[in-house]
Amino acid sequence: MTDGVQAVISGPGVFFDGRTSARHDVRVTLNATGLQVEDAAGRVLADWLYDELDELSAPAHVLRLGHRHNGDLARLEIFDEPFAHAIDLRAEYVDRTGAIHRRQRGSIIGWTVLATLALVAVSYWGVPAIAERLGPVVPIAIERRMGEATNMQVRAQLDTKNAGAAFECGNGAGEKIGLAALNKMVKRLEGSAALRLPLRATVIRRDEANALALPGGQIYVFHGLIAKADNPDEVAGVIAHEIGHVAHRDGTKAVLQGAGLSFLFGMLLGDFVGGGAVVLAAKTVLQSSYSREAESAADRYAAELMKKAQGNARALATMLGKIGGATEPGMKILLDHPETKTRIAAINRIAADAPTVPFLSAAEWAALKRICAG
Ligand SMILES: [Zn+2]
Repeated sequence: MTDGVQAVISGPGVFFDGRTSARHDVRVTLNATGLQVEDAAGRVLADWLYDELDELSAPAHVLRLGHRHNGDLARLEIFDEPFAHAIDLRAEYVDRTGAIHRRQRGSIIGWTVLATLALVAVSYWGVPAIAERLGPVVPIAIERRMGEATNMQVRAQLDTKNAGAAFECGNGAGEKIGLAALNKMVKRLEGSAALRLPLRATVIRRDEANALALPGGQIYVFHGLIAKADNPDEVAGVIAHEIGHVAHRDGTKAVLQGAGLSFLFGMLLGDFVGGGAVVLAAKTVLQSSYSREAESAADRYAAELMKKAQGNARALATMLGKIGGATEPGMKILLDHPETKTRIAAINRIAADAPTVPFLSAAEWAALKRICAG
């Protein structure tokens, strides 16, 4: 009996590990659930599941792949078109030939027209108003490119000990169960959120009780937040708040506003990665705080999302009390501030006393607590 889908297919590729600039000529093997990358000596350099593959922007003849949950800068490049197509058929977020590309091309043309109009409009309204108006209509493809560019800068600024890939928790042998617990929690929230782009949540080795959302759906949870939480719902509540910022595109608006139109036009010219505007944008994301309205809106979103996901919506309020309302870097600790109390009360008003379903088992929660233990 023959099977329509070949059991194993392999092909050539080029791999960059994200830590050094070395280029590895590799053999890529397509298994049932993912692909494996081996160097000439037969060492396995990467083992990526298909639904964790991400297609990154690249010239037309190259398929450039990253890993969604890893967050490191490892890249795999495939130059062989039939082999790239074979990967495309298996990976949910890869779309070489199909509709996503055509749609993105269309939206980029539309965006060019919009950006030109923005240049005219900026002389009437100024940059903050433009950011607020353009934020909601930025095409997803552009938002993700913005996210990739700011991500590199944000990581460089947060990773003060230059730990590189180890800056991220969850990859050590003893940390993998914790990472699985985190992904389980995020998947459940994501399932209830119905966002237009996939989320990536990553725990990083920072002691502050904080979290951060970038344009394009990258969420950073600081280890200090997990250390301070007494149950999974408190972590989930803060992640839900960050998902609120993603859904409302607050990061995108902040970047547009912080870096101004130079970012926007640098992006259109295609060389914005590494440009001064990106550094500026990363600083904006890290140092400024969102407006009170944006924070309240993210709180409301989080409380509703927690309800929808059958979690305990009050847990976010509890966590806000513990961390003084400062859910992001750059926010001041305002424990006794009326604003924090108002936020806590608003969340508790939305929270219903409906029965909840635990996000994690006791063992999974214990593993999540150890996600940075090494
Ligand atoms: Zn916030």
